[in-house]
Amino acid sequence: MKIAIASGKGGTGKTMVTANLAFTLSRDGQVTLVDCDVEEPNLHLFFPAPAVITEVTLPVPIIDENTCQHCGLCGEFCQYGAITVLPTRVLFFSELCHSCGGCMLACPNDAIHEEPKRIGTVAVSTPLPRLKHISGMLDTGNPHAVPVIRAAKKLAVGDPLVICDSAPGTSCPVVETLDGCDCCILVTESTPFGLHDLRLAVDVACRLGIPTGIVINRSDGKDEAILEFCRDHNLEVMLTIPFDRGIAAIQSRGNLLCEIQPTWQNEFNGLFMKCKALCKGER
Ligand code: SF4
Ligand code: SF4
Repeated sequence: MKIAIASGKGGTGKTMVTANLAFTLSRDGQVTLVDCDVEEPNLHLFFPAPAVITEVTLPVPIIDENTCQHCGLCGEFCQYGAITVLPTRVLFFSELCHSCGGCMLACPNDAIHEEPKRIGTVAVSTPLPRLKHISGMLDTGNPHAVPVIRAAKKLAVGDPLVICDSAPGTSCPVVETLDGCDCCILVTESTPFGLHDLRLAVDVACRLGIPTGIVINRSDGKDEAILEFCRDHNLEVMLTIPFDRGIAAIQSRGNLLCEIQPTWQNEFNGLFMKCKALCKGER
């Protein structure tokens, strides 16, 4: 079973929900936690442990200027503007390249070959006896988040229970994270911004055909607008976490709510049971 945890906007407490769900479930069985927020992974703050780190690379074209006839075909082929052919040299802009390999095929003179270029890393650790933590990290300034997410998720293939922590928003990295998941938990807060961005996130999950439920975080009890939206869209509010100074203090110290206040484990176990029901179409 694969669960994605996402949010329309940043700062809703998505990572806190993810970390506490993984911690709680790992007390009873094997859990794999994948940090797919590769531009700003932070689950390792809750689960510090030594990690095995491997590089993620993409093949990029290398042009041999001695063989190149400057015919311009590779530049014409590249739809991403990554190659500009001048009369005496070829300019290559690696940050625009999508590693499609097309220019190599288009070259009539075999002047292009590919070499791997590092775009980020994946780190694998075991912070708890039954918790495997995979963390993707994109290199600073690199625009290719999706292949790093893909590489991180690949390391969880075949694992019995996988929880993927998505980047906030609704862009390509979120779609890549949600792809292949059995259900999605969207974490929101009861503010106008929270509701606005929740609408967008629900739209993405619906278009991907992924059963979705809602967690309201930092609730001040005035959740009527979110509740009305959920009723209108047949979305279950699976858990409500109150706005509470004690909870905020636990988080600000980098601690886990379910560890410091074990009664919360019941709530997160309940959240998991609701996810299971969602996956079975019982909701
Ligand atoms: S590999 Fe594809 S995207 Fe990259 S330069 Fe060649 S044609 Fe363009
Ligand atoms: S297609 Fe090949 S020969 Fe033509 S400009 Fe590109 S690298 Fe040079």
